[in-house]
Amino acid sequence: MSTASPSHLLLGRRFMVIYRRLLRRYGPQHWWPGDGAFETILGAILTQNTSWKNVEGALASLKAAGALRPDRLRALPQEGLARLIRSSGFFNVKARRLKAFAQYLGDRHGDDLDAFLRQDPAALRNELLGVHGIGPETADDILLYAAGAPFFVIDAYTKRILRRLGVAPAGDDYGTFQALFHDNLKQDVALFNEYHALLDRHAKEACRKQPLCQRCCLLDLCPTGKSGTGASGGG
Ligand code: SF4
Repeated sequence: MSTASPSHLLLGRRFMVIYRRLLRRYGPQHWWPGDGAFETILGAILTQNTSWKNVEGALASLKAAGALRPDRLRALPQEGLARLIRSSGFFNVKARRLKAFAQYLGDRHGDDLDAFLRQDPAALRNELLGVHGIGPETADDILLYAAGAPFFVIDAYTKRILRRLGVAPAGDDYGTFQALFHDNLKQDVALFNEYHALLDRHAKEACRKQPLCQRCCLLDLCPTGKSGTGASGGG
């Protein structure tokens, strides 16, 4: 936590109240589903612009093809890889991104994924952001769920919920949203892991595009829900 001013303490408490409510409502989410760090990284790339359900089929196909290893992934022809991950959507783009990551890991780290993930988290984040097709959200998925580093993942669901709760920063900048969590919560990997997963669950169950405020566990904390304007509260 970078500061302990009264406003930060207040916001930090508010964030923890929201977290506990969500945890009580939905229970632990057991993220990230996957078998090992390499699969988690592939899943983080494959889940760009699609639901996890669509990613599961792609990962199962990769597993069946024995391609959940960087050397095997590199050896696959581009078109063959795209076919295997078809269910994840944007499969040609994502095939290039998977190959780019596998290539990077081989060229720069001799496929030593453990050493790659064990390096200083800020340096790792910079490296990830330099790999083709990896932006801040995917990099932070990898940092949090594969490297176990405390980087809060921001996605469209998180932004939507924070805006409706009246605690979002102005604008749409990824780093500003992330700073809100980093500045007001303990830098705790388990907390960041569960909190992000719970926000995603909440966006699917209640805080949808057309929110179901009457059944929401955050209703009494939420100006949007209390004013009954949720349906136009931003998607
Ligand atoms: S009360 Fe409505 S708008 Fe507010 S968090 Fe809950 S579902 Fe979303």
